[in-house]
Amino acid sequence: MKTVDNNYIQEKFVEYCKMNTRSFDDSNEVPTSSGQVVLLNKIAQELKDLGLTDITYSDKDAYTVGKLPANTDKKVSPIGFVAHVDTADFNSENVVPQVHNNYDGQDIELGHGLTLSAKQFPSLNKHIGETLITASGDTLLGADDKAGIAGLLGMLKYLVDNPEIKHGEIWVAFGPDEEIGKGAARFDTRRFPVEFAYTLDNGDPGDIAFETFNAAAAKITFHGTVVHPGEAYHLMVNAALMASEFIQNLPASQVPENSKDFDGYFMVLSNNGNVDHAQISLIIRDFDTDGFNDKKQLVQNIVDRLNQKYGADRVELQMHDQYHSPGDLIKKHPYVVNLVRHAYEKIGLKTKVIPFRGGTDGDFISEKGIPTPNLFNGGANFHGPYEYVTVESMALLTKALTTIIQTHLEMNDNRDQTPLKRKY
Ligand SMILES: [Zn+2]
Repeated sequence: MKTVDNNYIQEKFVEYCKMNTRSFDDSNEVPTSSGQVVLLNKIAQELKDLGLTDITYSDKDAYTVGKLPANTDKKVSPIGFVAHVDTADFNSENVVPQVHNNYDGQDIELGHGLTLSAKQFPSLNKHIGETLITASGDTLLGADDKAGIAGLLGMLKYLVDNPEIKHGEIWVAFGPDEEIGKGAARFDTRRFPVEFAYTLDNGDPGDIAFETFNAAAAKITFHGTVVHPGEAYHLMVNAALMASEFIQNLPASQVPENSKDFDGYFMVLSNNGNVDHAQISLIIRDFDTDGFNDKKQLVQNIVDRLNQKYGADRVELQMHDQYHSPGDLIKKHPYVVNLVRHAYEKIGLKTKVIPFRGGTDGDFISEKGIPTPNLFNGGANFHGPYEYVTVESMALLTKALTTIIQTHLEMNDNRDQTPLKRKY
């Protein structure tokens, strides 16, 4: 039996990090940058070389998908894995990955005057003796999510190298524009016929996130009446003051700076106004659907009250949902998480449920009916020059994925449907 191919994982990771795949929020192209297409095509070729079938790339959603066919007659439902090719809003030109063999815990001079130090980033101490990969000071590395891609390809290589390991049908999908929240929203999941899937985006080995924020954005517009202040008695209506009255009616403690773990919040993004006209831009975040709906209702109620007080149509509300937590769907399919817990246990990883305080590709894919929690990719310090990952962490992802696949074959007919908890 062949072991996980660390050299292959390292080679693919370094090769892909060098490719500039930054996404751009202000672009309407699909995907939002041509570098992503280059990588998506390269991955398609890689899948072909590994012997996958049904490999397609679609111009409409810019996803590369492929299938590793089942090698057993045992009936087992198809499962999927998803990683994204784009990198975040930080310099990604001429990324030069630095490979530090046998990392000794000492400071690393990244270049451009930057030092990566275990004093500043203590989690580096977990990786002494490993093969550490960093950027060179003036760019990000792109471990988010190229570490996920490398770990995923490592899993395919491992199963192809070891055909005696039996598995059901496995689908993989590589998509664009995750960082700007557009990629998975466009994904045509008819191309991805799986029962459930996992994203491999950020996080530490052992992590699983099956709840994210539910998210909404609101614009509240206030129309005042301007009158000369000397003659304003019972006539002037001050839009700027209505706006501040609106803010005073929001719960003062439910703000990002007082929120953590599974807490939600209201956040005033901007508040501009004068006597004539004012506008507030606001976002709402909550893990629980009920709490989310309550928060939206509160905004509506404050607007209604102000309209009663100052006259109808003084205050206008425009509110729309941005994304939804996959939590409600995944809690109806607890096996999707319990399967991972059993697999993690087999390889000595302690399951840690992460409150994912943002959106993920899994939000959109779950909304399309495929329960999709997030696992991990093993990197750290994402989206900046201190980003790093070790080959061993990516190999651990490979190991976790192959174990999930093998455990699914064992458990498919006898599924652990224990209700999910937020702490194990
Ligand atoms: Zn990511």
